[in-house]
Amino acid sequence: MAENGTLHDAFIDELRDAYDAEKQLTKALPKLAKAASSPELRAAFEAHLEETRGQVNRLEEVFATLDEKVRGKHCDGIEGIIEEGKSVMEEDFDDTTMDACLIAAGQRAEHYEMAAYGTLVAWARVMGHTEAASLLQETLNEEKAADKKLSSLAESGINREAADLAHPNGNGQNGNDEAPAKKKASTAKKPARRR
Ligand code: ZN
Ligand code: FE
Ligand code: FE
Repeated sequence: MAENGTLHDAFIDELRDAYDAEKQLTKALPKLAKAASSPELRAAFEAHLEETRGQVNRLEEVFATLDEKVRGKHCDGIEGIIEEGKSVMEEDFDDTTMDACLIAAGQRAEHYEMAAYGTLVAWARVMGHTEAASLLQETLNEEKAADKKLSSLAESGINREAADLAHPNGNGQNGNDEAPAKKKASTAKKPARRR
C-alpha cells in the first residue's frame, strides 16, 4: 500500500471491500434460502438477495460519483462468515433448529455489513461526498431492516419451536431431557456441548 495514504484512499479501499462482499453474498444468499424450511424465512432470504443485487448496482453508482473505476477487493471478513454458514448447513439438525442456525448465520452477515456501511457513511459525510453518503445510507438502512426481519422471524416462533425440541419438558437446562429433570448426584456434570 502506498505510504501517506489518506482517508479518501482508505474510503475507496473499503468501498472495494464492500463491493466484493456484496458479490459474495449474492452467491451465498440463494444457498441460505434453499436450506430454509420456513417459507417466511426462505422468502426473507430471497427478498434480501434481490436487495443485495441492488446494493451491488448502488455501489457502482457510488464509484461513479467519485470518478472511480468499479473494482472489488477480496473481502476476507465476509468470506469467513459465509464459510461458517456453510459449515452449519452441513450439520445434521432438525428443520427448525437449522432455521434458527440459518438466521444466526444471516444476522452475522448483516451485522458485518452494518459495521462496514456505518463507517462508509460516516467517512463519506465527513469528507463531503454527500451523494455517495446518501447512497450508502440507503444500503445501510436495508441492512438494518434485513437484520430486524431475521430477528422478528426468530422471535415469532422459530426459536421457540427449536427450544421446545431441545427441551420437550420445558424445564431442563441440560438438553434432551427425556424425563422431568431430576437432580442426580451432586457431582453430576453438565453433558458436553454438542459441537
Ligand atoms: Zn474523499
Ligand atoms: Fe448487503
Ligand atoms: Fe445484507
